[in-house]
Amino acid sequence: MLSTAEARRAIFAAMPQLGTESVSLDDAIGRVLRQNVVTERDQPPFDRVTMDGIAIRFSEFDAGRREFRIAGTQHAGDPVSSLSDGDGCIEVMTGTTVPTGADTVIAVERISVVDGVATIEDGYVPDAGQFIHRQASDHATGTQVLTAGGVVSPMDVAIIASCGLDAISVSKLPNIRVISTGNELVPPAGPIEPHQIRLSNGPALVAMLASQGLTNTEHDHILDDPKELERRIGEHLEAADALVLSGGVSMGKADFVPRVLANLGVQVEFHRIAQRPGKPMWFGLGPMGQTVFALPGNPVSTLVCCRQYVLPALFHASGRPDRAPQRVVLDSDVEFKPNLTYFLPARISSNDAGEAIATPNPTNTSGDFMALTGTDGYLELDASATSFPAGTIAPFHAWTRP
Ligand code: AMP
Ligand code: MG
Repeated sequence: MLSTAEARRAIFAAMPQLGTESVSLDDAIGRVLRQNVVTERDQPPFDRVTMDGIAIRFSEFDAGRREFRIAGTQHAGDPVSSLSDGDGCIEVMTGTTVPTGADTVIAVERISVVDGVATIEDGYVPDAGQFIHRQASDHATGTQVLTAGGVVSPMDVAIIASCGLDAISVSKLPNIRVISTGNELVPPAGPIEPHQIRLSNGPALVAMLASQGLTNTEHDHILDDPKELERRIGEHLEAADALVLSGGVSMGKADFVPRVLANLGVQVEFHRIAQRPGKPMWFGLGPMGQTVFALPGNPVSTLVCCRQYVLPALFHASGRPDRAPQRVVLDSDVEFKPNLTYFLPARISSNDAGEAIATPNPTNTSGDFMALTGTDGYLELDASATSFPAGTIAPFHAWTRP
């Protein structure tokens, strides 16, 4: 049986890289960049005024002048004007260029204006060159400011726009089919018999994928019937880059999924990982390089396996570098005897020392998915130990930060 680290490595090694496409700036959020972005111009592109006020020559103030005749007004967006005489000033607004011949800005709060003459407040001493954001002081033209492999954030959208791009090269979204298997499952609405349960994994998997920008998904529910499973999974394989199945991978008599996948020519890479929850997880590669994640159906297992393996694998295929998990401090003793990695749901807070503190929130078996609400993710407690005293530092996998 593979360790959790071996399973992750095996999946990453098997993942084919997704292609690229160009998307408009409006559709770029959450996508994985497949190009670098360089500045179109110096940043800022000109000496930018950062206060509403007047622009003067500092040498005039230094020589004792406190009254400046207003020789013009310059708003943001106006072409640069010129201050020709030292006894004058130009009214300037935040975002405009510093007028030629001026070098210092006095904020409007520090002046009074009477009959077109601005007088600087008594006793106020400005710094030479103040309230000017200098051209290229952040970045020179042609500086790389975004790197391929990054996930586009709202801040990155601002950068892309200011670099003069209204479209950007990103990784294609994988076409994903989420497939729930099980005779006992019925849709969320409608009548239900006492022996049936609501199908919750399918919608939860679709939602978890969507929460990471993986929106090109369809869901199907297939009964535990080998022929029907083979026919329908076969159709999905034809259409998809990745299949995410839930249920039917354990040792029960109706756990047909591994056999059905083998019949469809899906090559098994591994079956079972030394972990709880999610030990029966199965992973394989289809004839056209499709990746098939067959997750155990117990809902906690399904969600943990999706977060732990499926999301990082799809990001890897998109060209995003893998992220190291956050490390947190356990706030109470945890015992776990089996020789398995223990994924333990937890909430995160911070203590007075600024450390991230994990409060375990164990579930009653891997069927108790309702206990996951309000958790921030899960701890990864190593298989080699059996007791984890309060104060132990452990990796933590946030649900929302694969
Ligand atoms: P299985 O992995 O098929 O043996 O299923 C294990 C447990 O998870 C069973 O109690 C199933 O009823 C439950 N289960 C499987 N699939 C789903 C699903 N899509 N939604 C909710 N529960 C499920
Ligand atoms: Mg089942």
